[in-house]
Amino acid sequence: MITTSSLTKTYGKRESTFQALTNVSLELPEGGSIAIIGKSGSGKSTLMHVLSGLDRATSGTVQIGEHAVSSMKKVQRDRFRSETIGFIFQSFFVSANESCQQNVELALEIARVPRKERSARALAALEAVGLGDKAKQRASTLSGGQKQRLAIARAIVNNPRYLFCDEPTGNLDSATGEQVVQLLFKLNKDLGTTLIIVTHDEDLAALCETRLAMKDGMVVSQTSAKPKKK
Ligand code: ADP
Ligand code: MG
Repeated sequence: MITTSSLTKTYGKRESTFQALTNVSLELPEGGSIAIIGKSGSGKSTLMHVLSGLDRATSGTVQIGEHAVSSMKKVQRDRFRSETIGFIFQSFFVSANESCQQNVELALEIARVPRKERSARALAALEAVGLGDKAKQRASTLSGGQKQRLAIARAIVNNPRYLFCDEPTGNLDSATGEQVVQLLFKLNKDLGTTLIIVTHDEDLAALCETRLAMKDGMVVSQTSAKPKKK
């Protein structure tokens, strides 16, 4: 279960503050897929950052499975993130001048996986996203869809229990976006990875079992439904 209680996040200091989350209390099931929808500025990314331990809430608590994220010190939180969480952003952050394999191995290094295991695991993750033959190629030579798949390989190489995806198809054409979506749901099906996906795409949201709608920093609805079949 992913649980939050009275989460609040305020950005800025003194007179220039903005409350991006207000009293967000949630109970979300694990093992399935969760869509977070809402207009731009409604607090979706902020919620993802706070849930995943990328950022801290101003008040309130976050519990991810057995992990009490909101009471962790920074070092613990960084460790939790590198071992338990994968994060995929709208704009695929990859190191352009490094090879695909080096990009993925970096995530293993951060998670303190022994050097001798890294190469095989990185290659397996690249295979899983269909980039096995691009391992030695520089990331800068990839297309947009391939870069996003590289970002996914890096996010999944540590077998995260939870994969946070912030508009993962936002910068992709629809055919490439569809491939990325297929890949995410395959991970959910094969490995039981919990997917938490921010999206504007109605079709993608309809594939998820749980749908969370946000408005002005608040959760306005949470619904569960049998996901549409592809
Ligand atoms: P969404 O992902 O739904 O578009 P965000 O969570 O990115 O929304 O942002 C919610 C609100 O918080 C927006 O009004 C945004 O301008 C504001 N905000 C986000 N990040 C910061 C920040 N680092 N400093 C100040 N305001 C921010
Ligand atoms: Mg956002």
